[in-house]
Amino acid sequence: MGSACAVPCVALDAAQTFDSESKRESDKEKKNANKSKAGEEATTSFASPAGERGRETEDGLCRLKIGIVGFGTFGQFLAKRFVSQGHAVLATSRSDKYLPVAEELGVEYFSNVDDFCEEHPEVVVLCTSILSTERVVQKFPFLRLKRNTLLVDVLSVKEFPKKLLLREVPEEFDILCTHPMFGPDSGKGSWEGLPMMFDKVRMDSENKKNEERCHNFLKIFEHEGCRMIPMSCEEHDRQAASTQFITHTVGRMLGDMALESTQINTKGYESLLTLIENTCNDSFELYYGLFMYNQNATETLEAMERSFDRTKKRLFDQLHEVLREQIFGEGQPAHIREQQQSAGRKLNK
Ligand code: NAP
Repeated sequence: MGSACAVPCVALDAAQTFDSESKRESDKEKKNANKSKAGEEATTSFASPAGERGRETEDGLCRLKIGIVGFGTFGQFLAKRFVSQGHAVLATSRSDKYLPVAEELGVEYFSNVDDFCEEHPEVVVLCTSILSTERVVQKFPFLRLKRNTLLVDVLSVKEFPKKLLLREVPEEFDILCTHPMFGPDSGKGSWEGLPMMFDKVRMDSENKKNEERCHNFLKIFEHEGCRMIPMSCEEHDRQAASTQFITHTVGRMLGDMALESTQINTKGYESLLTLIENTCNDSFELYYGLFMYNQNATETLEAMERSFDRTKKRLFDQLHEVLREQIFGEGQPAHIREQQQSAGRKLNK
């Protein structure tokens, strides 16, 4: 991994015209007398917890100011790791209920999205549910952010947010579509070797600072040992339908059967129980999103159904053969016996 920030710590862009700068500052001063003053806010530098300025984390990574939109399970999961690397993290969601957990994680929390934007995070990570993202993006006050902000999404489907963001996000913003292919269960401890898919959907490649910022954001995952996978959003959805969606569907089906641990669990059965835990702990909304917003998912579901029917048929056909044998014995007409043998050969292929 490369070291630190190749780009010096300067403002990436001027903030867009906005009239409540002074109000925000006075609110902030009330909240924390030690916080930065208004003039200092004009740059993308931010104070470290100790009140010092600097762009490097203890691990030599470039310190970023990251804003998380949607502070649910996954937003919190990412925030925790970002904070642990020394990045400044702020978050917004719909209610105040996240204040205690944000405080515990060292995240500055805003239930008001305008206040969140006025903090000018240099990277904004969309962690909202797949189903709500369109609505959230359509009413998001992008104009209150800096004109040059990196917008990242982490949705578990990719073609949909790519199209949505290209359509709705102001042209000056860079767009990075990602899918960290793990969650609070599978990535509970280390992220070593876990896949992190990304697609630089819109990047001002003329602007070296933009490239660096994107690079520094991806470095967060690289630093944790993730397997970095550059891939188009379209290819992601094609592959995810036959991997991730199948995994979640099987997990959901087995979860529905309320399987229990026994004294004679085999390794295979243990892995099924783990699968249930890894998939059913996610919200049903997430699973529904995998189906609804990936056009390849319907075909996968149908293929699974066909395969289940074929497997079941094979079992029952064999059973019928045994039964007939018992009923008729050697007395079955030759052509029936032949048909059965040929059906058995086909099924065994
Ligand atoms: P989720 O149920 O998919 O999303 C929960 C988040 O969506 C919460 O922050 C919630 O906001 C927000 N939300 C839901 N409805 C909303 C609405 N109408 N308006 C505004 N916000 C709304 O659960 P999640 O596990 O936290 O996943 C978040 C995102 O990460 C999803 O897009 C998912 O695909 C992606 N992801 C998840 C995992 C995982 O393992 N869980 C892994 C990779 C990617 P409130 O907090 O305000 O209710």
